[in-house]
Amino acid sequence: MSDDRKPGFATLSIHAGAQPDPTTGARATPIYQTTSFVFDDVDHAASLFGLQAFGNIYTRIGNPTCAVLEERIAALEGGTAALAVASGHAAQVLALHALMKPGDEFVASRKLYGGSINQFTHSFKNFGWNVVWADPDEPGSFEAAISPRTKAIFIESIANPGGVVMDIAAIAEVAKRARVPLIVDNTLATPYLCRPFEHGADIVLHSATKFLGGHGNSIGGLIVDGGSFDWSRDGRYPMLSEPRPEYGGMVLHETFGNFAFAIAVRVLGLRDLGPALSPFNAFLLATGIETLPLRMQRHCENALKVAEHLSHHDKVSWVSYAGLAGDRYHGLAKRYCPKGSGAVMTFGLKGGYDAGVAMVSGVKLFSHLANIGDTRSLIIHPASTTHRQLSDAQKTAAGAGPEVVRLSVGLEDIGDILADLDQGLAAG
Ligand SMILES: *Cc1c(COP(=O)(O)O)cnc(C)c1O
Repeated sequence: MSDDRKPGFATLSIHAGAQPDPTTGARATPIYQTTSFVFDDVDHAASLFGLQAFGNIYTRIGNPTCAVLEERIAALEGGTAALAVASGHAAQVLALHALMKPGDEFVASRKLYGGSINQFTHSFKNFGWNVVWADPDEPGSFEAAISPRTKAIFIESIANPGGVVMDIAAIAEVAKRARVPLIVDNTLATPYLCRPFEHGADIVLHSATKFLGGHGNSIGGLIVDGGSFDWSRDGRYPMLSEPRPEYGGMVLHETFGNFAFAIAVRVLGLRDLGPALSPFNAFLLATGIETLPLRMQRHCENALKVAEHLSHHDKVSWVSYAGLAGDRYHGLAKRYCPKGSGAVMTFGLKGGYDAGVAMVSGVKLFSHLANIGDTRSLIIHPASTTHRQLSDAQKTAAGAGPEVVRLSVGLEDIGDILADLDQGLAAG
């Protein structure tokens, strides 16, 4: 390849961040299963601790296997730097920890992964971080929710599970006017389908547990710095714009410029809160990403065929999948996810709650469990599982009414997938 040629997405998925191991020649990325790294000498140690040199100290703060994963996702998203952490939820805590003080607020789309709604509503209260909800379909409602204490806006590119596709550019405009960063959880789309930085996002988060890892074998999270936000303009982000006593009075934004956010989250958040990713999980997640484009193509192809099949099935009352031509989010999906609408969908059963229970009990190829983004096809009936504790009205408001079934369509033969759904539906 000539030096000025920019590698394409599939090439980056395989190669970004990785080289043959310089000491052994190993071609696959080694698992550096070590807690700590030997210093060259006392001066080297001092420069690492003082952030004057980049290098490995201790796996809580960084590890060479994790670094391959970090560079790979930064390249795929088009960010300046990234940080790998123990889970998607840890990524959310750490990203906001760099921005928020007790009493601060952030504005979030009301349609999010259920675990994120819990985290924001309950656990973040203990930190004094207040979430203000906005309507995902109304960019104006984000604007209306902004206050002088707002420090960020948080959305999902494609919301889990309802299939809401967000108007990222319109919400990025709101964020720009409010001078706060737009954080996009890009878990369901992955950078193969949607690249939020191209539409004005400032920070991208992932639950790598899902489609990035792709094989249902490891929990992990990623934080990607878009390098676009001016952290020093208003003095509202002191962690980035004020001198850090433990680093000799260094100002992180001044020193690290367009990757200061990623550095702050690593050397303050990850250092002190501690949810580091294990090198073994980083190896599995980075290996998973090597086939991301192939897997996402097949996930989308299979999911569209499933959505079309279900929408014609006489036991199904509705299907929510942005890939369907008649779906209310089809226009936004074509704009933000032109290569496909992902693998996750919900649909409603005419037979209600009992039909949902019968269906998840009747399928054989689909696994009945609470995850998405596996090679395997997955199914869940939220009303009898994840949303069981809610009242019927709350279930319906959360998109988890008694008749709702969620699928994460896998990579099996489409004929087998459709046949399994048909016999599950026959059981209802
Ligand atoms: C699963 C998920 C999370 C949480 O990630 P974990 O890796 O399970 O902690 C966050 N956002 C979305 C959209 C998810 O699907």
